[in-house]
Amino acid sequence: RAKQLGKNQYAFYTKNIKDNTMKDILEEDELHRALTKNEFELYYQPQFKLANGKIFSAEALIRWHHPERGLIGPDTFIPLAERTGLIIDIGYWVIETSIAFIAQRHKDRLSPICMHINLSALQLRDAKLVKQVTKLLDQYQVSPKEIGFEVTETALLSDVTLASNILQAFQNMGISIAIDDFGVGFSSLGQLKNLPVNILKIDKSFVDDLETNPNDKKIVEAIIAMAHKLSIHVVAEGIENETQWCLLENYSCEYGQGYVVSRPLPKAAFNTLVEKNKQAYRKSLEKDI
Ligand code: C2E
Ligand code: MG
Ligand code: MG
Ligand code: MG
Repeated sequence: RAKQLGKNQYAFYTKNIKDNTMKDILEEDELHRALTKNEFELYYQPQFKLANGKIFSAEALIRWHHPERGLIGPDTFIPLAERTGLIIDIGYWVIETSIAFIAQRHKDRLSPICMHINLSALQLRDAKLVKQVTKLLDQYQVSPKEIGFEVTETALLSDVTLASNILQAFQNMGISIAIDDFGVGFSSLGQLKNLPVNILKIDKSFVDDLETNPNDKKIVEAIIAMAHKLSIHVVAEGIENETQWCLLENYSCEYGQGYVVSRPLPKAAFNTLVEKNKQAYRKSLEKDI
């Protein structure tokens, strides 16, 4: 009997190896260690008003300080975290760290800013998510208005009803909801009306080709117009130059994010930039008067 059990376990083990690659298993171990050894860091990228460049919010973006490989971007480890389920724990770390950062900004008497946090599909199937977020906001004395969640169209696809119920609960609390990378997924503008959405983020790929591709121009213009008809705000991602900025402004896009204003920054550099931006904005207002 013991022998048989052993055999079964072996079968289970080989099946696992087939499902994940050996590399995955080794990296999963490292990813787990990263969490316990505090190797992750959040960088923050400002989001600004296209009309005047004023920073009003930001997006938290995870980085991994790997002891041998140096600083690693999320595209190389988030997919593995999603495959292995580790994204749940990493996700909670991201949420708590973002909220703690806002609380620290309060203590330092820095200007209020809304922090947008990325959520994966798996997190939108976690029944405890709403309760945990409520608890964290309460614990750090941060208002729900000071955070927002970003989800992709594909993340919503896996279980639209459950995901939209969770998002609805967040929206009812006053947390803003953004659809990330809009335009590259499968959802249509028609589906938007059934989802609790405050913000639509136009994918960088459309912004990249604005200057050269007349079709992209028309698509972006149409997305912005439709979103506004549905009372949804629009943020353009990945703005790298003034030409793209001007074009988007002409299409009535209200907000932007991109290297043209700043790359994602570690928290101290981010705080400095936001304060400088605030001063500049104040000066320009003074000049007007
Ligand atoms: P995203 O949510 O669409 O984030 C925007 C990405 O575009 C970021 O890449 C940002 O650095 C980059 N970006 C912003 N402006 C520009 C620009 O002007 N030019 C260029 N070339 N890139 C720009 P990053 O930080 O590498 O993140 C990649 C993706 O990883 C994110 O895409 C998001 O899907 C995911 N991610 C990042 N942090 C988290 C997290 O905490 N949780 C989850 N679940 N996913 C995350
Ligand atoms: Mg995002
Ligand atoms: Mg995006
Ligand atoms: Mg993206």
